[in-house]
Amino acid sequence: MIDQKTFEQLLPLAVQWTKTQEEFVLKHGNPLSARHLADAKLAGVQHPARIRVLAVDRIPLPEDSRLAEASKRIGIITEGTRCMGFGYALIIRVDAWNDRELILHNLVHIAQSERAGSLEQWVREYLADRTNCPKFTIGSLEEEARRFAREVCTAFVTAQPNGKGKGFGPNNNPARVTPKPTPPGHHFGWQKGKHNPHRM
Ligand SMILES: [Zn+2]
Repeated sequence: MIDQKTFEQLLPLAVQWTKTQEEFVLKHGNPLSARHLADAKLAGVQHPARIRVLAVDRIPLPEDSRLAEASKRIGIITEGTRCMGFGYALIIRVDAWNDRELILHNLVHIAQSERAGSLEQWVREYLADRTNCPKFTIGSLEEEARRFAREVCTAFVTAQPNGKGKGFGPNNNPARVTPKPTPPGHHFGWQKGKHNPHRM
């Protein structure tokens, strides 16, 4: 948990960090492939063509140590995070490129930010949701993303004649995006080899 005073102090930093990340991705990222476009529509994104995706070798943590510490403690962004989605930015660690459920999950977050009216508003709602929950529950926005991604992937797998998620295997979904480095100075706390999927 995080107290209200700390929350109020960190919120503007979180908003700013998210905006900076989104700007970077919009500038350096690529439009979605047809498959990801389809999933973005499925996730309820109104303007999927605006989304840019950036494949990275590591997900950036906030530079501000207080913000980085809080987001790790709450479990929002940790060294194990493999994908993030907000605003019109989708950031995928290269080893998560084939994880459809994880990407769908973050496309739901993008749809949520659209509905919130602005990235800033979504960050406020999402963080308030995550930090104010009395029993360490994950909050309704996070729950929606998890549930939707799980449902789609479960339905998809059971719809396959052989029970496998044909069409999203490694041979059929090459990451055609060349990995690009994350912005310099954004790698605080990164520990190689830790695999702790984005809260799933
Ligand atoms: Zn999430």
